[in-house]
Amino acid sequence: MLIILLLPPGFRRFLFVLGGLALILLLTGIFSSSGLIKSLMGASGPVVVIDPGHGGVDGGTSGQDGTLEKEINLAIALRIRDHLRTGGANVVMTRTADTDLSPFVPGKTGRHRRDLTARIEKARKAGAVCLISIHCDWSKDKKRRGAVVFYNPRNNTSKELACLIQEELNKVQPAPQKAAPGNFFILNQSGLTAVLVEAGFLSHPEEAQLLRTPDYQSRQARAIANGIRRYYRW
Ligand SMILES: [Zn+2]
Repeated sequence: MLIILLLPPGFRRFLFVLGGLALILLLTGIFSSSGLIKSLMGASGPVVVIDPGHGGVDGGTSGQDGTLEKEINLAIALRIRDHLRTGGANVVMTRTADTDLSPFVPGKTGRHRRDLTARIEKARKAGAVCLISIHCDWSKDKKRRGAVVFYNPRNNTSKELACLIQEELNKVQPAPQKAAPGNFFILNQSGLTAVLVEAGFLSHPEEAQLLRTPDYQSRQARAIANGIRRYYRW
């Protein structure tokens, strides 16, 4: 300390600046390895749009205990967003709260289609490389269960992406499933690569219970994020 005080003031200032720079470099190294800098600086990766299905007046399907699909879709989707952002991806959400994208207009039909169109428009405006739509399924057959990823059979990117996400989901779900071609409005958009994840069946009481647990939501979200990361290799 005494030696520093004996040094000329100009040289002392120089030492302080040097010390400050060393500290910044050290902190940058620590935080960038944890992904914090990447997520704070945002987004160098491709734009991925995550779409939690339904919301607002539209609850989607429901479980025996009244659990609404829209709530589970949002919980999983927000977790996917967090996983992807930590990895430096540029994530755009179609919704982050319990809202739909097309308010109910009395006497006017086609609210559902307007809502879907608004989600697609959002993805196009964002310049998304892909749109990942999150849903839960329902079946009369109470034994049906499992997460299935649907793709557009006329879009190879959609198919390959769906297969990778399915592979990752199969690591966390009780029984493996196969990605499948789907005929959904959101998938059939030209110039937009989309996949639709049916995270599980709310009609299957045990699976509905599983889907409600934050732990399973997190494991599914990590699996979906891993599938996306593997496809885009970042
Ligand atoms: Zn749905």
